[in-house]
Amino acid sequence: MTNLLDLDSAGLTALFAAMGEKPFRAKQVAHWVHQRFATDIGAMTDLSKPLRERLAAAAEIRGPGVVSDTTAGDGTRKWLLDVGAGNAVEMVYIPEDDRGTLCISSQAGCALDCAFCSTGKQGFNRNLGTAEIVGQLWHANRMLIADGVTGPWVEQGRAPITNVVMMGMGEPLANFDNVVTALNVFIDDNAYGLSRRRVTLSTSGIVPAIDRLAGACPVALAVSLHAPDDTLRNDLVPINRKYPLSELLAACKRYLEHAPRDFITFEYVMLDGVNDAPAQARALARLVRDVPCKFNLIPWNPFPGAPFATSPRPRILAFQKTLMDEGLVTTIRKTRGEDIDAACGQLAGRVQDRTKRRVTRIHAAANPSTPH
Ligand code: SAH
Ligand code: SF4
Repeated sequence: MTNLLDLDSAGLTALFAAMGEKPFRAKQVAHWVHQRFATDIGAMTDLSKPLRERLAAAAEIRGPGVVSDTTAGDGTRKWLLDVGAGNAVEMVYIPEDDRGTLCISSQAGCALDCAFCSTGKQGFNRNLGTAEIVGQLWHANRMLIADGVTGPWVEQGRAPITNVVMMGMGEPLANFDNVVTALNVFIDDNAYGLSRRRVTLSTSGIVPAIDRLAGACPVALAVSLHAPDDTLRNDLVPINRKYPLSELLAACKRYLEHAPRDFITFEYVMLDGVNDAPAQARALARLVRDVPCKFNLIPWNPFPGAPFATSPRPRILAFQKTLMDEGLVTTIRKTRGEDIDAACGQLAGRVQDRTKRRVTRIHAAANPSTPH
């Protein structure tokens, strides 16, 4: 059985061509699946009954299995989704005054093993299929409508989710093909119709894949920087050993020739005593001076067994001020959904600590004068 959530418009068109049907059928079905969130092919009343029967014999609409569904005090809602073989991924809905954002996962686990990330500590399980990625947006919209979610844009007849960020579990560019097919569905006017500016992909910096994304589906790009120099970044974000900062920043500049926004968002997780010194903020400003960008400082979210601490608030504010004084627009991410463990990087639940030795090195690299 083909899962219709697996197909972008080219895939749907090919499906109908194989059935000897006209291409406009693909649009009709995309409307049913991605705009009306249908679950039943039999309900697609603008298709003839015989066509509905033939389609139902070959295809289905199979959304994700939900393991849990929790809403935090601030309205943030987290779904844990079953992806088989004991694996689960999470997606998080973040309501704001003027938008509804969905944070989507792209992999079960992650192979890149960033030192401060609970998903990384879990190790890599597998890539999500396109249907498992698109199914997150489909399911969230469906459930939010069913639950009568409100918001000015919903009253205007738009879907509850207006913005997608690929900042959940996994490295989206390490699951390139399935992610790009899903992005195509997100931006397709016959499906979710989100503008490329409202879809943000966050990467730890897989340079060749950044270039490929620019050609395939250039959505807004966020890059996880986290350190102002290669020595520290090698330890915090190990993929840096393969694609060092000079190459990463050059790729960011190239990407901007295609991007829907005229800046890159640099994410920077604030780790107490590791990467949050004023001198590091100044080094960061020098590092990015050729790249039009904005900074988003992320207070680090603890998880059990992690050997870091969040930078104290005054230190984060001072870091922000230093970057601002250097002319860089810098925001501090508001932590949402903390009471349900839905904050960034908390998505894996309990993890085993296999980081102790590496972290000693990280602290040593950050504070060369501190004996360990
Ligand atoms: N793999 C991608 C996208 C997923 S992570 C990436 O690394 O960019 C999304 C963001 O959350 C990244 O900037 C990541 O570094 C950050 N993050 C990971 N663990 C975190 C934690 N415990 N607290 C705060 N941010 C975290
Ligand atoms: Fe993977 Fe991103 Fe976590 Fe690094 S921060 S381990 S790339 S999910």
